[in-house]
Amino acid sequence: MSNSAKLHEEAQKYTPGGVHTSIRNVDPFLVFTKAEGAYIYDADGNKYIDYQAAFGPFILGHNHPYVNGKVIEALGRTDLYGVGCTDLEVELARKITTHVPSAEQVLFCNSGSEATYHAIRLSRAVTGRTKLIKFQGCYHGWHDYVARNMLSAWDKIGTRDPGSAGMMDEAIDNTLVCTYNDLDDVERTLKANKGEVAALIVEPIPHNIGCIMPQPGFLQGLRDLCDAHGTLLIFDEVITGFRHNIGGFQKVAGVTPDLTTMGKAMANGFPIAAVAGKKPYMSRFNTQPGGDVWFAGTYNGHAVGTAASIATIEMMENEPVHEHIFRLGERMRTEIRGILDRLGIEAFVAGFGSVWTTYFMSFEPRNYTDLQYNDAQFYVTYRKKLIEKGIFKMPMNIKRNHISYSHTDKEVDITLEAVEAVLTEMSRG
Ligand code: PMP
Repeated sequence: MSNSAKLHEEAQKYTPGGVHTSIRNVDPFLVFTKAEGAYIYDADGNKYIDYQAAFGPFILGHNHPYVNGKVIEALGRTDLYGVGCTDLEVELARKITTHVPSAEQVLFCNSGSEATYHAIRLSRAVTGRTKLIKFQGCYHGWHDYVARNMLSAWDKIGTRDPGSAGMMDEAIDNTLVCTYNDLDDVERTLKANKGEVAALIVEPIPHNIGCIMPQPGFLQGLRDLCDAHGTLLIFDEVITGFRHNIGGFQKVAGVTPDLTTMGKAMANGFPIAAVAGKKPYMSRFNTQPGGDVWFAGTYNGHAVGTAASIATIEMMENEPVHEHIFRLGERMRTEIRGILDRLGIEAFVAGFGSVWTTYFMSFEPRNYTDLQYNDAQFYVTYRKKLIEKGIFKMPMNIKRNHISYSHTDKEVDITLEAVEAVLTEMSRG
């Protein structure tokens, strides 16, 4: 029995499934013991080039010496206080409001789910309305406002599909679900719920279903529709923020939302998230005297997360982080396309910057519904065979791969060689 199998057996005694978040309980089950740069290591001494990147935070690579050094330095003198604020919080807030176009002000919390919860509640307070629009396939966290129509079964698309048992009916019914890249659907929904929609929340690129690009004019169209209907536009940049640009994908797209949520790549794997937005909205939070929207959290602004985020952003300010990861991303996409073409395998390689997804289908998907044509089973085998060759990818191919600043051409070479070998073997049946 492998060390991973033994530890998994024991873990299940103490914890349901032996894992602490859903989706982690997958085959092969691995217990990890070490991470460094582009590599992760399991309890049996196997080494993998990591593209899962813990669902995205590792933009610089695992255990990054500069970030870790700054965290340790901060902990040498400070940690967490119940009142006032820290110098680190001020510095980080200054950086975020400088770089992110929509961030006139910012507040820190601990997870992306907290950030989206706060942004949605704020939008309800600001507009005096109740309803929320989200898109089928987009993920914004685990809470009742948004845990709906995420990875719906194909026959449940377009139906009332709660993401969890135990959700409140009121929350489910007040969350309206539209089709990504379909402005007519959004307009119809806004008109049918005239004067009732507080906010529209969107992943500017829905990375939770891989790499579906907004079609030209889609994000601007959402901005215009929200303006016309008095609805707040929330960009959930928990994945795209800092990964695609130091100012978020809003900077790339040239579309400024009212509120933005951030997390993941903002601190290279350390737990911190943020909600940011226009000052008249943000000043409704009760962190300010007279504010009437509750915002709190014992660990908000902890030195670990703030120091890590400052260091991560400093790396982006001072080194060619995006230039490097974008170049490797482009190389990976181009060469994987070449391999698939040579072997005659039907697939679409999508991506932006450091992120890519190989959909095993014949055309470019524009929304979640299109993904029913993707061959999910082919990917399961592909992933398992790549893991055997030391390449670690996400458990589902309608998710994505991430390149970090620690990946080099050497890791890309090794990966492409493995991809070619596995696909050649699979194409021969
Ligand atoms: N928004 C998006 C776009 C996400 O991808 C995620 C997490 N995958 C969340 C929100 C929730 O973040 P967290 O898991 O930190 O609560």
